[in-house]
Amino acid sequence: MTRLLYKPCPAAVKNLLGHCTALWLLILLPGNALADWYKEQAAIMGTSINVELWHDNEQQGRALTSAVMQEMHRIDELMSSYKPDSELSYINAHAAESPVTVSSELLALIIRALDYSVITAGAFDITYASAGQYYDYRSGKRPSQAQLQSALPAISYRHVKIDPQRSTIEFMRPGVRIDLGGIAKGYAVDRSIDLLQQAGVSNAIVSAGGDTRVIGTRWDRAWKIGIRNPRQRDSIVSMVPLENSAISTSGDYERFFEEDGVRYHHILNPDTGKSSHEVQSSSIIGTDATDTDALSTSVFVLGVQQGIQLINALPGTEAIIIDNTGRMHFSSGLARLE
Ligand code: ADP
Ligand code: MG
Repeated sequence: MTRLLYKPCPAAVKNLLGHCTALWLLILLPGNALADWYKEQAAIMGTSINVELWHDNEQQGRALTSAVMQEMHRIDELMSSYKPDSELSYINAHAAESPVTVSSELLALIIRALDYSVITAGAFDITYASAGQYYDYRSGKRPSQAQLQSALPAISYRHVKIDPQRSTIEFMRPGVRIDLGGIAKGYAVDRSIDLLQQAGVSNAIVSAGGDTRVIGTRWDRAWKIGIRNPRQRDSIVSMVPLENSAISTSGDYERFFEEDGVRYHHILNPDTGKSSHEVQSSSIIGTDATDTDALSTSVFVLGVQQGIQLINALPGTEAIIIDNTGRMHFSSGLARLE
């Protein structure tokens, strides 16, 4: 759309010419030149996706918020374990039979996930799904002891063999399943931020559930991300100011059911195939959301001591952990600020 913008005659010109009726300034602008924050919200990847960005053109600002939603859909189609037609589902159905050729994008993310298994000594492990597939948190379903025992030997990132030259993936034993639920949302946030930066956006926030990344500021202030009280939905325990960085929170309150006083939730200890009860939530701050996503899940499984130790060893990364008694713990870079 092209619009004509009329501006009142500046005083100096008015004085010079005596009157300015004929001197309205005509400026031709593509689209509707309306500098503003453009927002969109949608339910994709089983979670709430939010984008907000600053743009000086309404049409382009709105086109970019939709482009982010399209990118989220694209990644969901590729990586969802709930969609039978996704590339990930195809891998799960066939990689135990013979090597499966995988797109370079999916393979790269799987390799990144496997690297996190090494860094976390197996606390982060996408083969958790070998047992994870038997849980359904909505209907309160969990594996029987017998199911768990037979699934456990299939949980190990070492069973996943990648051939980067051929771009293939193979499972080295039957029963192995992978799921990228602990890293894909962060990845989708990073791809969206890349897309916005390439389009010249310099102030924005993108979040997918508990994974958020921001660029620039909101007006002239840092973006502020709340960390919620794991046991009280509407209560915030900390507000984290962020500029050009990412934050991910993993909590035991996202997807869970309770049975006989035990909380069964969606973050599993790969050693046991059962929900980890070391902490109630772990939040990781870093530069990109793929890393903070994988690390928040990892630290959740590792617990306070090993989790903080891991984060303190990673430059540019910080942690806020709420332990299983509700106490907060901070990595060394944040503890100094306390
Ligand atoms: P969400 O934002 O969905 O709450 P998190 O980043 O907290 O995600 O990670 C939880 C998800 O990670 C689970 O839903 C599951 O898909 C996956 N997951 C669970 N346990 C592990 C694990 N030990 N290693 C890797 N991924 C896991
Ligand atoms: Mg995560």
